[in-house]
Amino acid sequence: MSLALEPVAHIDRTQHNPPPYLKADDLGPWGQYLEQVDRVLPHLGRLSRWAETLKRPKRILTVDVPIELDNGQVAHFEGYRVQHNVSRGPGKGGVRFHQEVTLSEVMALAAWMSIKNAAVNVPYGGAKGGIRVDPRTLSRGELERMTRRYTSEIGIIIGPNQDISAPDVNTNEQIMAWMMDTYSMNVGATTTGVVTGKPVDLGGSLGRREATGRGVYTVGQLAAQHLGLDLSSARVAVQGMGNVGAVAARLFAQAGARVVAVQDHSGSLYHEAGLDLQALLAHSARHGAVAGFEQAQALSTEGFWEIESDILIPAALEHQITAERALRLRTRLILEGANGPTTPSADDILADRNILVVPDVIANAGGVTVSYFEWVQDFSSFFWDEAEINRRLVRVMSEAFQAVWEVARERQVSLRTAAFIVACRRILHTRELRGLYP
Ligand code: NAD
Repeated sequence: MSLALEPVAHIDRTQHNPPPYLKADDLGPWGQYLEQVDRVLPHLGRLSRWAETLKRPKRILTVDVPIELDNGQVAHFEGYRVQHNVSRGPGKGGVRFHQEVTLSEVMALAAWMSIKNAAVNVPYGGAKGGIRVDPRTLSRGELERMTRRYTSEIGIIIGPNQDISAPDVNTNEQIMAWMMDTYSMNVGATTTGVVTGKPVDLGGSLGRREATGRGVYTVGQLAAQHLGLDLSSARVAVQGMGNVGAVAARLFAQAGARVVAVQDHSGSLYHEAGLDLQALLAHSARHGAVAGFEQAQALSTEGFWEIESDILIPAALEHQITAERALRLRTRLILEGANGPTTPSADDILADRNILVVPDVIANAGGVTVSYFEWVQDFSSFFWDEAEINRRLVRVMSEAFQAVWEVARERQVSLRTAAFIVACRRILHTRELRGLYP
């Protein structure tokens, strides 16, 4: 059975009815994902027979997470773990702690993980988890109790061969260490491979912390070459100064680019000559926010989206580049560090305006790629050096980018649709090979 591309088919747009567990009038980010899948259907050839698989998460678990607060009260949080697709291997995807987490969001993030893992060809399906909580309101002890109780609750569906978690917004190495320990205590054996993004001393991988930002930078270099954009004189704007945004900003600055604008949850900053990133990151580490940094001009939230740049890196949350903002952006290249930052209608506007978008499912796949390396190292208990990891990361990212670039050129579609074509075909091909049971 060949995976060669087949002719483009005409397919009428589907009307999406929300599944019973989502609000009737709002599909949210899951609706955004469904629209992206619809754009791929005409390119699936005989595999379109299986396409409904992509529109239905394999498994959804909603859990109540009760903990005792430091003041003696009992608080309840709602948590989720969604396994979107496991045809190509175990579910894989991060855990998010955020006050606006919804089931629709976790479903979409899980689906984007299926697409991403297939697009870069790591042997995983897609999954994601989250708890609706503002972790900044919790003490360290409360955060640990909540993480451990959540891990225990989702313990019935996770495991190193079933579903592997990783850090996402507001979760980090320490949270992965607590998740790994809780799972291990419950099964009676240290099981490092149940999470990735762990501390290096606990089976984590060198290079994992920087991997997503490094991947953004790697595809940024390739896309810039295609555009004839010289990185050493490029102006870069970054939304999100966390794990992804800060590392990407630093690597672009090291290549000579000027990071002229940044935005995080606390505010936006501008400096035409380029921000002093070292000083900014030190300020952000001290205050937990970029706001108040004195060596820059403060901008309004909307002002950030109007700054002239060559490269824009959204690296915070989804739904940031809306149609309205897409009309005002003054940039040439968008590298999606975040998952789902651009709405489908904004995508169309950006294509019309000739602004190139390297989609999340390729641009931020560096994290899961090194997570895969971490998982492999955990199984063999043999650890590679950082140069080896970065070399392999750059190779995987470059090959994935070039393959997607070729499909986009051949089919005259956006890089996002091209990445979805590559990924959906891989996923549905494994579905076809495995068949339905019984
Ligand atoms: P993080 O928690 O380390 O950082 C998030 C950043 O976003 C912070 O600087 C925060 O201030 C900012 N932010 C939050 N709300 C904002 C708002 N309303 N407006 C502007 N900025 C806001 O998270 P991260 O791990 O860097 O993840 C960022 C994005 O990258 C997410 O979409 C995540 O899913 C995606 N991602 C992360 C990884 C990874 O390895 N960490 C991998 C792939 C994709």
